[in-house]
Amino acid sequence: MEKVIAKKKFGQNFLKDKTVLNKIIEAMPKNDNIVIEIGPGLGDLTSELVKYKGVIAYEVDADLLGILQEKFSKEISSQKFKLIHTDVLEFWEKNITLYGQGKYDLIANLPYYIATNIILKAFDDINCENIIVMVQKEVGDKFIAEVGDSDFCALSVLTKTISSYSKTVVVVPPSSFEPAPKVDSSVIYIKKNLDISLDNEYKKFLKVAFSAPRKKLSKNLSALLSKEEIQTVYQVLDIKNDIRPHELSPSLYRQIYNKVIIDGRNKRS
Ligand code: SAM
Repeated sequence: MEKVIAKKKFGQNFLKDKTVLNKIIEAMPKNDNIVIEIGPGLGDLTSELVKYKGVIAYEVDADLLGILQEKFSKEISSQKFKLIHTDVLEFWEKNITLYGQGKYDLIANLPYYIATNIILKAFDDINCENIIVMVQKEVGDKFIAEVGDSDFCALSVLTKTISSYSKTVVVVPPSSFEPAPKVDSSVIYIKKNLDISLDNEYKKFLKVAFSAPRKKLSKNLSALLSKEEIQTVYQVLDIKNDIRPHELSPSLYRQIYNKVIIDGRNKRS
């Protein structure tokens, strides 16, 4: 096989560390879900995944298709593996789910330049049940942070809202990849509760709540609410006046939103 030159524009850092590949496989939930992989690259993770599950992979780079088709010709013939050539975010723009025939687990070493967007899309994808993805460690920490951690942010609140089980599976050094990225990576696992969906208005509310993460939460909320509304809701929910955005629990964020934004709107209409 000709040597493939990794393309920066597609975030190509190929995972070469067998130990990390094994950790991803060990973390795979035991269920009958199909696996969706975003960015199979040279197929190193795919080779492991197809040993256990049916896999559908979305790859944007046309230059990799031939390599993947050759490597997985047997699995393609036996319909254990399907390769779709597309930009996955464009696909999601046009389709509500990456898999229309049942539940799936997203397992992938993600292209870092769009990793956050991909995870947020997977949160909204009604058929995606489990997310096991390699991301830049800094991004992984944000999704997995607990209330009170300095990393706790809107992404952490969304994760805790949609999932009652999330964790970091393994932290991965640059040397595990070819070419090596400049930063540490981590594999995170988020098990979604499929009965819960995140509405866009709530996401916008959280964005405002964390707009200046080190300021008082009340200061950020004043972009949306009057001083009186903030005072009243803080009193009703027993929230300290000087609380900072990273110190408030996901359940209290939801309660502020429900009490002030939803109830307020209902009163006005
Ligand atoms: N899975 C391989 C591995 O573990 O070595 C490659 C991972 S590499 C970090 C990211 C992969 O995502 C590359 O194959 C890249 O071409 C692909 N990719 C980048 N942008 C994409 C997009 N918008 N849609 C689908 N695949 C994309």
